[in-house]
Amino acid sequence: MSRLLIDLPYPADTNKYPKFFPHPLLLMKIKQPDDELLDYNLRCRGLGEASVKEELDRLATSLENDVREVVVGCGHFPADADKNVWFDYFLRRLSRSVLVTGIYPSVMPGRVGRLHSRHTVLPTDWDIGDVVIPIEMLGEYPKVGKKLRASVRATRGCPRKCGMCPVWIIHRRKFEFWPVSKIIDRIKWYYDAGVRYITFIDDNLTVSPKFDDMLEQLVGLDLWGMEYICQEGFEVTSFHRERMCCLLKQVRFVDMKMAIENVNEDVLRKIDKYYKEFAVVERALANIEKHGLEVGSYFLFGLERSEEGVLKNIRFIAEHALDVRVNVVRTYEGGVVHDAQVDQKLFKGYASLAYSASWYARALGVNIMARDAIDQLKKVGYEIHMTKSRVLLEGKTDYWRMTSRFVRGLKWMFSQVLGCDCSVKMEEGSVVVTKRPRGFGF
Ligand code: SF4
Repeated sequence: MSRLLIDLPYPADTNKYPKFFPHPLLLMKIKQPDDELLDYNLRCRGLGEASVKEELDRLATSLENDVREVVVGCGHFPADADKNVWFDYFLRRLSRSVLVTGIYPSVMPGRVGRLHSRHTVLPTDWDIGDVVIPIEMLGEYPKVGKKLRASVRATRGCPRKCGMCPVWIIHRRKFEFWPVSKIIDRIKWYYDAGVRYITFIDDNLTVSPKFDDMLEQLVGLDLWGMEYICQEGFEVTSFHRERMCCLLKQVRFVDMKMAIENVNEDVLRKIDKYYKEFAVVERALANIEKHGLEVGSYFLFGLERSEEGVLKNIRFIAEHALDVRVNVVRTYEGGVVHDAQVDQKLFKGYASLAYSASWYARALGVNIMARDAIDQLKKVGYEIHMTKSRVLLEGKTDYWRMTSRFVRGLKWMFSQVLGCDCSVKMEEGSVVVTKRPRGFGF
């Protein structure tokens, strides 16, 4: 008898971006020819909370009289994550029982038993490397610009065991790179069918030199117009491989990211990162520069011992003009980092400064963390008139979409010079910075 397979929406940022938008590969793996698959992640894309609720309510009601077996997938994220809010909501709304499935076998049965005991867990082989998305289905998903996009998985798991990451908990450090020839054939098939953008959804795509073999074969195929992206970051030590660095550019990998995490070696030890010495990161950055690659960097805040520990990261970001994404350390059931160790306040206070330092360094060539930051501002064309309590700054102020980073940087630079918190008032072509009493927010 045919079944109904349902993928539920989850409020992850990646849903907003066509380049990452997930295809329901997990349910496609178990789909039989007669089964129907409904992707509510796609159907609810861009809807507000109230509308998503309405959609799920309607679906729950329609299932009351559906005689088919129903399998509900909990998306691509761990079952204990806050991202499964719609999963919990939907299961509670159902008046019938269903089969529930997901990728977190170590946690899912307990969670379903605890919260949704009417339903049954369906254990599944989640090796999804062999799933091919039919072309007519790909056409229903968001494109990247005008490019048709497909998701590909080339590996399973990760051989590392970083303490703030759920991947090793899910896969128990198992790692497998599927035969390169199979992946190449798949990409070629997608290309011939019109796909021009491939999203790799691997957790640690670059850990194996087989990745370099794959790149080399892609260079040989010369798939004109094709671009590649990886949803997750690339491993730091993989950038030590000159061969990989050379090939990445030729293949047209875009929006690459590298998980630096933190410049403090005690933080690297706390998260049990696979490298404990920061020199490993410096060598990777040197290679990235040498090969002219554009690679964004992930930083994790919240485990530093002091504000100085966070500022050390931000100084590094500014000095190296890194394009960054900053996040707070997440904790996972079974992981080595616990909630009590994470200082959210440190993160919230300094994340915007990190983004600002990155923007100033890349857009204006100004290091806002340097002692001579004000002189650097003058050098890039700003006229600065200072009195004891007030600064008038004249120059370009209308930075499209980046004004908040511009203002945040000014607050920081002048707070260092004036020795107190500052307010910033912007007008067209000028900015007035004034002293502000302490205690009115960061
Ligand atoms: S952070 Fe990256 S390298 Fe570390 S366990 Fe997770 S996937 Fe593997």
